[in-house]
Amino acid sequence: MSFSLSAKYDSLSAFLESRAPNEPEFHQAVSEVIDDIKPIIDQSDAYKAANIFERLVEPERMISFQVAWQTDAGEIEVNRGYRVQFNGAIGAYKGGLRFHPTVNPSVLKFLAFEQTFKNALTGLPMGGAKGGSDFDPTGRSEAEIMRFCGAFMQELHRHIGPDIDVPAGDINVGGREIGYLFGAYRRITGHFQGVLTGKDESYAGSAMRTEATGYGVMYFLSDMLEAHDDGLDGKTVIISGAGNVATYAAEKAIALGGKVISLSDSSGFVHDPEGLTQEKIDWVRAHKSKPGASLQPYVDKFGGDWSEGKTPWGLEGDIAAPCATQNELDGDAAKTLVKNGIKAVIEGANMPSTTDAKEVFQSKKVLFAPGKAANAGGVAVSGLEISQNRKRQSDDAEDIDASLRTIMSNIHAACVEEGKRDGHVDYTKGANVAGLRKVADAMVAQGVA
Ligand code: GLU
Repeated sequence: MSFSLSAKYDSLSAFLESRAPNEPEFHQAVSEVIDDIKPIIDQSDAYKAANIFERLVEPERMISFQVAWQTDAGEIEVNRGYRVQFNGAIGAYKGGLRFHPTVNPSVLKFLAFEQTFKNALTGLPMGGAKGGSDFDPTGRSEAEIMRFCGAFMQELHRHIGPDIDVPAGDINVGGREIGYLFGAYRRITGHFQGVLTGKDESYAGSAMRTEATGYGVMYFLSDMLEAHDDGLDGKTVIISGAGNVATYAAEKAIALGGKVISLSDSSGFVHDPEGLTQEKIDWVRAHKSKPGASLQPYVDKFGGDWSEGKTPWGLEGDIAAPCATQNELDGDAAKTLVKNGIKAVIEGANMPSTTDAKEVFQSKKVLFAPGKAANAGGVAVSGLEISQNRKRQSDDAEDIDASLRTIMSNIHAACVEEGKRDGHVDYTKGANVAGLRKVADAMVAQGVA
């Protein structure tokens, strides 16, 4: 599609190269929404007059800071910390913190951009943000992780607040790290307030936040299959990842009658033809809580096969649920999945399928749910945690789970409504258009300074 949003640039790539040089992940995320949102912007005089496109792809604020911290051996290490406050039109900034060596401005901008659409889809008032550090927790002691979190918050605390920006977890930032970050915030500022989500229930966290992303993924999948006269019962599910999203997605898939045959981490994947069980999942969670632990000992304990350095996309199954990280499923993997008869792909991670992979799924009309819709359950329950903190009361797990179920159904319905294309549902288009409308309307209403 030709690019005519600004007379200054004659192609989207020229625009992105000029505005955001050397940011491949961010370019990918923008390129993947442009065809869906450009016609909507073109049809609206208000969106065009407000220059929505250029404002939508420029973070409102990017903060980069030094994190100097002490190892157990007494050495001082220096990492880089970031917070990208991408779009605050519909609410205080909201999005996770990721600690991983791959964290850089491009990755965080793509994540915060996607988060803007995702948060809008939940129907809750949350703007889009993301942050983190290039810190690698692999092989670090708990004391080192605690000191790193303290040093990170030493700077971050001045940029966040319940009405400003409310971070949460992401890759390598779970309940333990949120606890250390919250403790540091409280000690530095003297305020006990809802400044992070994903907190433990012992200090104003929400029931079901840990489970929410993975459960939400499977709720969305159920709705998507049901809308196509099918269901999860009896389906074989290939899952990648072994963290929060993957393990709770596996748990819910099994509860809904599916058979989960894989999990993976950065060192390889487990194929368990017998299928995962609750006992096996509990073991994975306990085992993976040690920073950097490989999944490989799974096969010594429970059987199955370990494939070193490989991804599970060569397995045969009905459903693929990439729940590890961005660009983990490429075009060749997509072709193999299609050849092996895959029926649906549901993204638990953020942008786990490459552009090539998405094209393969789209050309073969494989049901495909993008992460910004399918994994929105996590941030949705974060939104419910914010509400509970505001009223200084906790809702019980059953009520939160029921709200999560409803929110995922609403997101599914919005994708169907906006994603109709030549007799089938393009869920990516649906998510992009529904997310855009909400954010762009708020931006138009608020004008510019
Ligand atoms: N990191 C999660 C995501 O990608 C959750 C963010 C949050 O709860 O703020 O949506």
